Amino acid sequence: MSSALEYPCSNGDQYASRVGFREERVARNEVFAREVNESLEATDTRPASSFIHVACECGREDCERVLAITRPVYERVRSDPRQFVILPAHLSEVEDVVQEGDGFLIVAKRGGTLEDVAVRTDPRH
Ligand SMILES: [Zn+2]
Repeated sequence: MSSALEYPCSNGDQYASRVGFREERVARNEVFAREVNESLEATDTRPASSFIHVACECGREDCERVLAITRPVYERVRSDPRQFVILPAHLSEVEDVVQEGDGFLIVAKRGGTLEDVAVRTDPRH
C-alpha cells in the first residue's frame, strides 16, 4: 500500500549546518566541563603538589572520565583560554596537542569559530 516516499538526497546545505551544529555542541560541552572544573578547583585547598581530579574536557557528550593532574598542570592549561585537558584517547581532529603528560594531553583549539567560542566563554577572562 504505502510506497516509500523518495526524499531528495541533494541536501548539501542541511548537511553542512548539521556538521557546524555538532562542532558548536562539542565546543559548548568543553566549555561546560571547564566551568565544572573551575568550580571544583576553587574549593580545593590541598597542596599544589597533590593531584586534583578534573573532568575530561574532550567535549564528547557521553564522556564522564576524570583525569588526575597536579595543580600546576591545571593552571598551565587555564593560562590559555584555548587550552583544554583531555584523555589521550579522546583527542579529536579539531585540536592540536600542546603537551603530552602522564595519562593526559593538553590540547589547544585550532583557529576559527571553535577557538572564538573557547575564548569568549573563558571564566577567567
Ligand atoms: Zn573525554
